Amino acid sequence: MTNLLWLQGGACSGNTMSFLNAEEPTVCDLVTDFGINLLWHPSLGLELGTNLQTMLWECLLGKIPLDILVFEGTVVNAPNGTGEWNRFADRPMKDWLSDLSQVANYVVAVGDCASWGGIPAMSPNPTQSEGLQFLKRKEGGFLKKEFRAKSGLPVINIPGCPAHPDWITQILVAIATNRIGDIALDDLHRPQTFFNTYTQTGCTRNIHFAYKASTTEFGQRKGCLFYDLGCRGPMTRSSCNRILWNRVSSKTRAGMPCLGCTEPEFPFYDLKPGTVFKTQTVMGVPKDLPTGVNKKDYALLSIVAKDTMPPWAEDDFFTV
Ligand code: SF4
Ligand code: SF4
Repeated sequence: MTNLLWLQGGACSGNTMSFLNAEEPTVCDLVTDFGINLLWHPSLGLELGTNLQTMLWECLLGKIPLDILVFEGTVVNAPNGTGEWNRFADRPMKDWLSDLSQVANYVVAVGDCASWGGIPAMSPNPTQSEGLQFLKRKEGGFLKKEFRAKSGLPVINIPGCPAHPDWITQILVAIATNRIGDIALDDLHRPQTFFNTYTQTGCTRNIHFAYKASTTEFGQRKGCLFYDLGCRGPMTRSSCNRILWNRVSSKTRAGMPCLGCTEPEFPFYDLKPGTVFKTQTVMGVPKDLPTGVNKKDYALLSIVAKDTMPPWAEDDFFTV
């Protein structure tokens, strides 16, 4: 049996919604097939009031072994570093986190906010929010860079706004079945199995990207979203087009640009007016190019691509 405790800080509950929609495996599968004992969760926990406090103290005192501590949302430090703006079970949430992270075998941050602060940690950050072990790309958030859970692993980050449901449940299964050692983490502590490739890997619009066939409207069934609508698929580490959402689709397949939500810089350009869903350019060249491509090569490639584009590249590719 693997005891799991899920706590929530400065959050919109989006990752909880995502978790409850998991399919491979489902939340029920975690309990019935993989021996996960859900000690408590904000939407599923049965304990309230004094009973909940008692359970949390028993985890701290070692009477209940805490195998996995999952955290969703930011660590709220306001006002003035006290954390009083986010109280839970009669204490600032940050105090529970600081103590429980010392007794947990594994600590898992689910979603951008818990991983690196997400939208709440954007300037001016009135809630003094930070991620569990990162503040944006800087290692060392609420828990210091050196933090290691009892298992010896740092905080495992499963970013996304929200994280894909199956990324969450599959990592929990890997822990519950003692297979987490097989999963390498990248330098941002993301499991490489989900975050080694780019959103673009598996996107149905790759051929349009290659021929520089652009679309300028959402929901169109042709054209690539990179050139005009600001798609960040070629610069964002995620498996959204390999492990589809609801098993059927992804943002880019549906004609919506990738916003880069699995990267610490999300939201890019601090949501300044005119920067969302619009490709930022300098002298006609996108400011952010696909990872590993330099400006000179891009300019050369795009001239050739445009010139060689066959007429069918602008056809509706879903026509039946
Ligand atoms: S829509 Fe986005 S992810 Fe898909 S090919 Fe174009 S740039 Fe890449
Ligand atoms: S397609 Fe991009 S913005 Fe959408 S969930 Fe995946 S990484 Fe995030």
